[in-house]
Amino acid sequence: MTSLHTAAATDRAMGDDRSTAQLVADHFVARLTGQVTAARTPVAVNLVVSAETLLGGDDEPADLTGPGGVHGPVPASVARGLVHASPEQATRVRRLFRLEDTDHLVAMDSVSRTFDGLLKDFITLRDQICRTAWCNARIRTTDHVTAAAEGGPTSAANGQGLCEDCNLTKETPGWRHTVTSGPLEPHHVQITTPTGHTHHSRAPDPPRARADWIQIEPGRWILAA
Ligand SMILES: [Zn+2]
Repeated sequence: MTSLHTAAATDRAMGDDRSTAQLVADHFVARLTGQVTAARTPVAVNLVVSAETLLGGDDEPADLTGPGGVHGPVPASVARGLVHASPEQATRVRRLFRLEDTDHLVAMDSVSRTFDGLLKDFITLRDQICRTAWCNARIRTTDHVTAAAEGGPTSAANGQGLCEDCNLTKETPGWRHTVTSGPLEPHHVQITTPTGHTHHSRAPDPPRARADWIQIEPGRWILAA
């Protein structure tokens, strides 16, 4: 992230009048997508917003960038409206979250209803195999844990890799998948079957970290001493 700030500082020194946060956002998106600037990505609008603004805790303006250049800043109330807009209203808004003190971008998501591109790749790498507890099949689809129709976001936390059979099963009456992990914890999905039984699926650790975790009971993992 430091290099993003270095690149932004260089741009500023060369006379670019975009704010540091906006330049950081542009470089961030450019490195993710291979596009030159955030404004030229297929995603139409990038909203750089602090967590405090998102949660309504302050009224600091958010920065808005999009086709044709930088459009921001926009009032906090407008930013909150964009963030909370329904997918139909805001299908082309991508949120980039930054830390209040440092302007570092710490997360991104999309209100798109489909998993594609980097988000799909990320979830496939994280999950490695179908997330149904007893199924070791290859991932064939990336889908919502909580359905978009029920308000589930299209995000890494609410996404999971499934095989075709398990994805079809999940949609039948009586099945329920729920994310039970926090944002800084290994991804964990609780699966409830039509008979009321629950199963737990924790995303596998990367190979070098796998030995550090011990499962003490289904779904509960602790770090080895
Ligand atoms: Zn499966």
